[in-house]
Amino acid sequence: MNTCVDLAASVLRMDRAQHGKVYLVGAGPGDPELLTMKACRLLAAAEVVVYDNLVSPQVLDLVGPDARRIYAGKERNHHTMKQGEINELLVRLARRGRQVVRLKGGDPFVFGRGGEEMQELAAAGIAFEVVPGITAACGVSAYAGIPLTHRDHAQSCTFVTGHLKDGSPELDWAGLARPRQTVVIYMGLSGLAQICRKLVEHGLPPEMPAAVVQQGTMPEQRVVTGTLADLAARVEAAGLQSPCLTIVGEVVRLRESLDWYVAAEQPALTERRLSVAFA
Ligand code: SAH
Repeated sequence: MNTCVDLAASVLRMDRAQHGKVYLVGAGPGDPELLTMKACRLLAAAEVVVYDNLVSPQVLDLVGPDARRIYAGKERNHHTMKQGEINELLVRLARRGRQVVRLKGGDPFVFGRGGEEMQELAAAGIAFEVVPGITAACGVSAYAGIPLTHRDHAQSCTFVTGHLKDGSPELDWAGLARPRQTVVIYMGLSGLAQICRKLVEHGLPPEMPAAVVQQGTMPEQRVVTGTLADLAARVEAAGLQSPCLTIVGEVVRLRESLDWYVAAEQPALTERRLSVAFA
């Protein structure tokens, strides 16, 4: 008996009861090979997939041909559906008996409002499951060759959102400026200059290394490195566009020797791995 295959089959079978169910699934940062096996199976089996703008087209290609796809949007300053409408939609679909995948970029519980959506479902008595995904901090730093912790450089790592309300940062700057720490900033592109300035004001040296990664894990990945003093200007000069992740800390220096990702090589590797897997 192949226990692994049996286990996968039982774990991944969707609930066939008459009642609908919502699977809150993390789509990872973009590269479809970073999906979990569970996410892959659920995408193939779902009747309805409600997805956000950060889900890559390559991941959406794994949705079954008969599934209904609903784009819920949520681009910055361009909310296609309001959060309340998304919550209502999920409840409505599940009440109609649908097997729904609610697909979110990265991990649904990291700056993804997954918790809020699940609270609504719980309140409405709808069954749900949560399938974690690789959050941008982990996926993007890996593909940029920047270890988030390293015994010589950083003993802790903090994830924060740089989406600043009314343009005024409301972060614990003193905490973020602590030494031997890596700070990862989600949604921080538009406030980057201000964020770098605040970190220096609160004690980090202006020469602290920092990087911004655009579309990490994807063939379009671009990385701009610099220091807190010059990163914002470099990023502007390079014309980086959302989605971008900012990493601040001594670990950024390690990229000089650990930068391994060459987008053009990836398809060949993928094909080889697949042909081995199915031989
Ligand atoms: N739940 C998601 C985060 C949603 S917030 C997760 O766990 O990753 C959206 C922010 O995530 C973006 O503004 C950007 O800062 C970051 N992000 C997501 N995917 C990214 C990618 N492929 N490259 C760079 N940043 C990314």
